[in-house]
Amino acid sequence: MPPEKPHWAHLFGEVVTTGLCTGCSACVVACPYDVLGYDAGAAYKPFHVEATGGIDGCTHGEKGCTLCTRACPRFRNWETEIDQHLFGRTRTDDEVGGISCDTVLARATDPELHEAGQDGGLVSAILVWALEHDVIDAALVSGLEGDGSGWKAVPTVVRDRSGVLRTAGSRYTYSANPLAYAEAIEGGAERIALVGMGCQASAPPVMAARRAGKVARRFVLSVGLMCSKTFDDSIFDELFDARYGLHRQDIEKMNIKGVFQIWMRNGDYHEIPLKEAHGWTREGCMACPDFSAEHADISTGGIGAFNDWTLTVLRTERGRELFAAMVDGGALETRPGDDDPGAIALMRRLSRVSRKRWPATAVPMPGRLPAAQPA
Ligand SMILES: Cc1cc2nc3c(=O)[nH]c(=O)nc-3n(C[C@H](O)[C@H](O)[C@H](O)COP(=O)(O)OP(=O)(O)OC[C@H]3O[C@@H](n4cnc5c(N)ncnc54)[C@H](O)[C@@H]3O)c2cc1C
Ligand code: SF4
Ligand code: SF4
Repeated sequence: MPPEKPHWAHLFGEVVTTGLCTGCSACVVACPYDVLGYDAGAAYKPFHVEATGGIDGCTHGEKGCTLCTRACPRFRNWETEIDQHLFGRTRTDDEVGGISCDTVLARATDPELHEAGQDGGLVSAILVWALEHDVIDAALVSGLEGDGSGWKAVPTVVRDRSGVLRTAGSRYTYSANPLAYAEAIEGGAERIALVGMGCQASAPPVMAARRAGKVARRFVLSVGLMCSKTFDDSIFDELFDARYGLHRQDIEKMNIKGVFQIWMRNGDYHEIPLKEAHGWTREGCMACPDFSAEHADISTGGIGAFNDWTLTVLRTERGRELFAAMVDGGALETRPGDDDPGAIALMRRLSRVSRKRWPATAVPMPGRLPAAQPA
């Protein structure tokens, strides 16, 4: 029998319609025939242009194209394949948050980057450093649509310090950052960094592991954001506005530190219990097993005792080298992860909680706790 060549029909049947699809958009970006679209309105899902095979099939796939399944970080044994590719081994059951070499606290020494960043401004500092030291030509990040007053997060390309500063900070609705790839290429970028939550951070390495061609080669850096969930955009009108009278255009900044923290343009500050927000959890997050952005070169989070530091997990050789160069160059201030053991314990606990979401009906993964096992 000839080897199987899995394509859109398999992706549609095994990932998109089974609840495993996170809406990361990697399949859309990898498709060389432009027959995949993306619904960024409310569904956050890829779809197939019907004219070339219907919603659940693909004429190019039937002729041998497999690029969408090669790019998908939820297709079949994605986790084992990426672990093997990045680290030369699969994780042990104890490595609930993925394989890593070091966990530290870090923050940008540049006051402007530190101030603009959600936590320590580490991600922004990495991007500025990589752009200014000829490591990357562009980065795919998340901006806000229009003047930002609608709080609609949109995939955005940045190519310089001002772009990085403009798009710093966290939005808690979904932004499929890989979708900005086409614009980066049009602008001449050949070496691209991707910033995104775990669902997106796993895309570059899965593409590399499965040899997804040019797209795979162009992603040279993956910076991950730790993440338990994102929310539907309707949370602004239906919860923040309807229940608390907080109009989206008046919101200045948001954070999640046990509660939803909301700062208003007039200086007011509000806290909304997270349990009130659960009803607006985005569907694509419900089966996601990855809290700690387990396949990024560098993963970053905001948990812990020190609000203005970024909890930082160095995973790959590439991530470690870049980080060390930045420290040597004076761009980062660091302190040992042991300064905040509670943050590391919480990261492990949240990782364990997320892993229980991976359905028992999907392919087994290393370290996955049985659904019934308590955290
Ligand atoms: C949706 C979401 C959920 C998160 N949940 C947690 C959590 O539960 N626990 C935790 O410890 N940390 C979480 N984080 C990570 C945390 O908020 C910070 O992003 C991280 O600590 C890095 O901080 P920084 O100051 O170094 O980043 P910054 O220098 O502020 O850079 C942040 C980067 O993230 C990009 N970005 C912002 N919003 C989005 C988005 N919605 N989608 C994709 N990219 C985006 C920005 O464009 C920017 O490039 C979450 C982040 C996001 C976006
Ligand atoms: S998880 Fe990402 S790559 Fe896989 S089908 Fe969904 S959008 Fe496409
Ligand atoms: S929980 Fe976070 S990492 Fe997982 S699918 Fe949702 S946005 Fe992506």
